[in-house]
Amino acid sequence: MLYGGDYNPEQWPTDIHLDDIEKMVEARVNLVSIGIFSWARLEPANGEFSFGWLDEIIERLTNAGIGIDLATGTASPPAWLTIEHPEILPMTETGVRLGHGSRQNFCLSSPVFRRYASRLAGELAKRYGNHPNLRLWHISNEYGCHSAHCYCPDSARSFRTWLEEKYGDIEALNEAWGTDFWAQRYTSFDQVDVPRATPTLKNPGQVNDFWAFSSDEMLACYLAEKAAIREHSDAPVTTNFMGLFPPTNYRAWAPHIDVISDDSYPDPNSVFAARETALVSDLMRSLKDGQPFYLLEQTTAAVQWRERNARKRPGSFALQSLQRVARGADAICQFQWRQSVRGAETFHSAMVPHSGRDSRIWRDVVGLGDVLSRMGEIVGTRVPTEVALLMDWQSQWHRAAAIGPGPNRTLEAIAAWHGTAFERGYPVDFVFPDSDLSGYCVIIVPELFAMSKDTASKLLEAAQSGAEIIVTAPTAVLDETGRAATGGYAGVLSELLGVRVVDHCLPGGEVNDLVDPRVDAISAAMTATSAIDRVELDVDPRTPLFRVLDAIASPRPAISGEYWAEELSIDDDVDVLATFVGLDLDGLAAITYRSCGEGGGTYVATDLDSAGRAALLRVAEARTRIAGNRIEAPAGVEAVRRGPAVFLLNHGDAAAQVAGICGRDLISDSKVTGHLVVPPRSAAVVVTD
Ligand SMILES: [Zn+2]
Repeated sequence: MLYGGDYNPEQWPTDIHLDDIEKMVEARVNLVSIGIFSWARLEPANGEFSFGWLDEIIERLTNAGIGIDLATGTASPPAWLTIEHPEILPMTETGVRLGHGSRQNFCLSSPVFRRYASRLAGELAKRYGNHPNLRLWHISNEYGCHSAHCYCPDSARSFRTWLEEKYGDIEALNEAWGTDFWAQRYTSFDQVDVPRATPTLKNPGQVNDFWAFSSDEMLACYLAEKAAIREHSDAPVTTNFMGLFPPTNYRAWAPHIDVISDDSYPDPNSVFAARETALVSDLMRSLKDGQPFYLLEQTTAAVQWRERNARKRPGSFALQSLQRVARGADAICQFQWRQSVRGAETFHSAMVPHSGRDSRIWRDVVGLGDVLSRMGEIVGTRVPTEVALLMDWQSQWHRAAAIGPGPNRTLEAIAAWHGTAFERGYPVDFVFPDSDLSGYCVIIVPELFAMSKDTASKLLEAAQSGAEIIVTAPTAVLDETGRAATGGYAGVLSELLGVRVVDHCLPGGEVNDLVDPRVDAISAAMTATSAIDRVELDVDPRTPLFRVLDAIASPRPAISGEYWAEELSIDDDVDVLATFVGLDLDGLAAITYRSCGEGGGTYVATDLDSAGRAALLRVAEARTRIAGNRIEAPAGVEAVRRGPAVFLLNHGDAAAQVAGICGRDLISDSKVTGHLVVPPRSAAVVVTD
């Protein structure tokens, strides 16, 4: 198991470097990422390279047996470059050139930037590409984190070329963007621009393509550096991702990345931090269809960039690290090794804090190094799961570019449904339109706004072979090109679901209490759609959904939606499990089910609350065999099987008693004979008999 962090020795004098090595050995650090922001040191003037200082650092690390993740240093171009070539600086949608003095100050499309960045990557690869201690290449850093879109002339030129390659002729673009609306028609690609600031709403097709283009441009930057590296080095290559980050289609990037790696900073102030850790771990593991990933950045305690920077509670640093290992991580690394004393990240926690050795952070860092050193037999193993969640970056871009029909809550829906599986004890594989869906028993499709016929056919096929598919609104409102579905939304799924969406009828969100019936006689006599802030559901007592809700709690939980409701047209063979209650929605179908081959399709015409989601998952569980592989765990405990081990992760504030488990706990190196107490915010990793 790899353990370490970003190492920025250029911020420190030599005596500290010696202390660094001593402390790294003490903490069992075996991988550090170096040079991520070192361009100005590596190439202090155009074409003048300075590698002596890096040679020394690498030699010291190598002598101490600490592996190297060598960055190309290109995430922050030096001042000489932006002065010689101000055209590489990114431009905002209002035409403002951004300046030097922060980071990621480069245009995604600039051929000049790519030339200089690739030259540096190539020089580094020439010098260190075959170094025996080089474990990994780290290209750039968090692509798109700050500058995911550039509106400069270079970007506009590249966008036109990209569009011409995509559409071939301008009429195809006119059709795809619906340019007859508002007289936006083009007669040549030369007339097309990036979607810079406009008087009012932008063309959704243009915005969607610009997002796709920008993701491709970031990938092209990465590939240019990778090609320069490959001329001299065969070492594996990565770039650090950022979870569900909307601008970058990580699934499309994944084939070009040798080891998926991620940076992840759940807010310790949220009780959903554990859910988020589970979600991003499942996502990263899924990008290459189950291949383990590296966590390249997390914090030991607190970040500095939130309004309130809560630190992790005692035990949480190790617990969340093991949570990632449980779900497929083979490396646990932090930002950063030694806390900076100057600069924008001075107050971001690190492995060596300002206070030094005499601190909880340092004790935690040494403790985790010890724990991870016992995880050797976990490395490289897989996480079995039968539950999948379908997501698609392209659909999300269509959703984000669409004007209406309601709030865009796609990421919330993904998190909510993943959270439902998490709370029930199921790890989840993320799947994508190009994924193989066979082998999954339950497939959840939360708000896939734009869906192709191919994706719909795959879901149908999966259901016919026995999978339970849960589709939630709004899904398949557009086709994959962004064209609104006619003849009923979600019609592309009608063979699976037996429903078509006739209309969206969104509940209000806020109750209007400004009307005074004593004086506002006309308005007070009316009822507006916004007179309800949640839409309640009435569950049919003859359905399994009703019985499951009954079993969850007494009294039976009421279920509802908040932001979304629809009017459905339903085929005769569809069961209505629940209807909406109140106002114009009263009596309309809210949740439907249709048997389909060996499986079935559930449609949820609202953004269902927690109890409703949990109940539907349990209904699906009863119809499939997934429950057989679920590990029963007490409240607060997440139980995940990876390879030979069961990870028991107690997120709760109270000690948890786990019964019925036998084997050897890797953390305590002791035998487990059927009964185990896991203290609050701690874990056991039991290699089962
Ligand atoms: Zn640009």
